[in-house]
Formats: sequence, structure tokens, C-alpha cells
Amino acid sequence: MADPAVAPLPPPPIAMLAELTHRCPLACPYCSNPLDLAAKAVELSTETWARVFREAAALGVLQLHLSGGEPASRRDLEVLVGHARDAGLYTNLITSGIGLTRARLVALDAAGLDHIQLSVQGVRAETADRIGGYAGGFARKMDLAAEIADLGIPLTLNAVMHRHNLDDLPETLDLAVRLGARRIEVACVQFQGWALKNRAALQPTREQVERAKRVVAEARAGQAGQRGAGQGGAGQGGAGQGGAGRLVIDFVPPDYFADFPKACMGGWGSTGFNVTPDGTVLPCHAAQTIPGLVFQTVAEADLAAIWYRGPAFMAYRGIGWMPELCRACDRRDVDFGGCRCQAMALTGDPAATDPVCRKSPGRAALDALVAAEATAKAPPAFAYRRPERPDRPDRPGAA
Ligand code: SF4
Ligand code: SF4
Repeated sequence: MADPAVAPLPPPPIAMLAELTHRCPLACPYCSNPLDLAAKAVELSTETWARVFREAAALGVLQLHLSGGEPASRRDLEVLVGHARDAGLYTNLITSGIGLTRARLVALDAAGLDHIQLSVQGVRAETADRIGGYAGGFARKMDLAAEIADLGIPLTLNAVMHRHNLDDLPETLDLAVRLGARRIEVACVQFQGWALKNRAALQPTREQVERAKRVVAEARAGQAGQRGAGQGGAGQGGAGQGGAGRLVIDFVPPDYFADFPKACMGGWGSTGFNVTPDGTVLPCHAAQTIPGLVFQTVAEADLAAIWYRGPAFMAYRGIGWMPELCRACDRRDVDFGGCRCQAMALTGDPAATDPVCRKSPGRAALDALVAAEATAKAPPAFAYRRPERPDRPDRPGAA
């Protein structure tokens, strides 16, 4: 770790992800929440979140992502949005939609909510409800999307893709257009949290991945063609990453099939941070999987102190921690050595070069793992994301 006394200060963060709760009616096996889900009893109070929002704004944060679990499980969600708006933050609600109603949408809109990201688990009720572990969820999402469109709240569709729904990508893009979304985030599953536990069940095949890339490229080109011919829609093209025509398509291909890792979090402790339901401040959502890191909570220090000098944020900031392979590499300032949590999950060493990198000594083992999982004729059953609740048996449809 860099010497706190002499390490240069990073710029202020742009974004904060507030995990308001880990409670969620759904049970997606790809959920990025930790296996050890936080109980309701440890969640921060309304007043503490309001103070944290003010500290974030004072630190320089511009965008607040309200997430979970399902943030609508918090009955004070509308009040929290009001506090965030009062602090001057742009507010984005990341939701499954379950627990929201038209009345709550109206209240959120009035409180100043700027944007909604609605998740879909599939394009048909049977697939979506099976993946989400929640009977009737798809129909409720479709109803809610119609209400969002009717109220004119800007909408992005979040589609986490994997072996069980990647072949439906064309229909998923069509669904986003039908629902009036301005943007779709097609994110191939990242193997952290419950997704890592379900990796063998979710691992796509190389053929699926290559087809998905073609589908995205053709959809973008098609929309660009339409726009060029004057037949485009609302003209969102150019906004975002690769948007063209009516729908902005953000595509996150799967790490394991890439040649180089992504710049995880734009570099550790560089652009944003997460706050967990109990107020622990993390450099990324999976950072607690790295042993030995010392995390602070919003009760112990204010966000500025944690961001600039917190030991967990200092641990992998800059290049001091890097193995020589990365330090001497010309992509060092492009991907920052990849993802520390992925290095931990795949090699047991959080300071290793991300094994996704073709130059990494861990790449051959990763290729073998992917080949074995992706070609399995019968992937294992899902381990649904469930809190340990002996008083409430696990079952699809449980709320
Ligand atoms: S991924 Fe699924 S289970 Fe996890 S918080 Fe989102 S909706 Fe809930
Ligand atoms: S060696 Fe390190 S810095 Fe270079 S491409 Fe690979 S992960 Fe990135």
C-alpha cells in the first residue's frame, strides 16, 4: 500500500452506489450481492443516509445510484430520494420493479428522482420468472414499465445476460424499444457474489458470446442506418457508449472471453465507491472478498476521509501494488491491471495480474475452466440468492 503521508490525492469521486438494503423479493442466481446478506436490523437509518448523501455531494459526487437488493423494500425510499435531491445529487434508481406501484412512482417523481434502471431477467414470463425465482414477476415488471413511460420518467432497461437468456438478445433489444426505454444495458454476467457461486450454471458458450456481439453490432448499425435515412426515433444516438438511433445500447461482454481485462471501477479508488446497507464504504461491491483489507463505516469517519486516505482505498490505488508484469505494460493506464476481486476469485491473490489478461500466467487455467463449464451438456441447477430465513421457506414467489 502507498504511504498515506506522501501518496498523491486522487480526484474526487463521480459516483456513489448506495446499497440501501439487501432485502429483495427476487432471488436471481446472478446477483452480485455477497453470499452473507445484510439483515434489515443493521440497515442505516433515513437520517444517516441523508447525512451520507450530503457528505457525498460535498466530496464532489455527482451521481447517486440507489440500489440494493431491491431499494423499494425500503419504505422510506421516497424520503431518501428527496434528501438526495436536496443535497444536489443526480438520482438513479436501480430496481427490479417489484414493490413499486404507480403511487410510489408518482411520489418518487415528485421527490426529484431523475432516472430509473429496471432489470429484466428474460423476455418471456416462463424464463424470466424462473431466473428471478419469483412467480409473476415478469408481468408486474411489464405493467410497471408502462407506468414509468406514462409518467415520462427516463428509463434504462438492465439485462444481465448469461447461458440461459443470451440467445434471446434480439428480442431483449426489441423489448427495450417497446417499453420506451432510452437505453439498454446488456451486461454479460460478472462472476462475483451469488454469480460466482452459480458460475458453472451461468457460463455462456463461446458461440453464444460471438453471436451476441454480432447482434449488438448489427442493431447499432441498423439504427445508425435508419437515423442516416431520416427514419430514426427520438435521436438518442451518440449519447452514451455506442448509441445510435432511438435506443442507446451499452454492451458489456463477458470478461472471461476477452483478451484483456476491463478497467474495473475505472481504476481502484478512482471514480466511485459503494456504501453497503450497514454503512461500510467499499472501493467496489466485491471488495469484501479480499482478505486483509480494512474497511471503514460512515459511523467511523466522513466520506472524504475514507475516500482520500482510507486504508482499503489506498490498497490498490495507483501502480505501487502492481506486479512487474503490469507495471511495465503499455496498457497499465488503460485497464489498471484489471479487477482485484477477479484476481482474488481466480488465483487467490488479489495483487496478481487479472487472469483474464492474455499475458497473465493464470490465463491458461482460466481458459480450461471456461471450456469445461461452457461445454457442459447439463449445467448445474441454480443456487438461488436467498437470505438464511428458516422462518420463510425458499420458494419462487416468496415476497
Ligand atoms: S440481481 Fe435479482 S436478487 Fe439481486 S438485488 Fe437485483 S433483483 Fe434482487
Ligand atoms: S499485463 Fe496488466 S496492465 Fe498489461 S494488459 Fe495485462 S492486466 Fe493490463
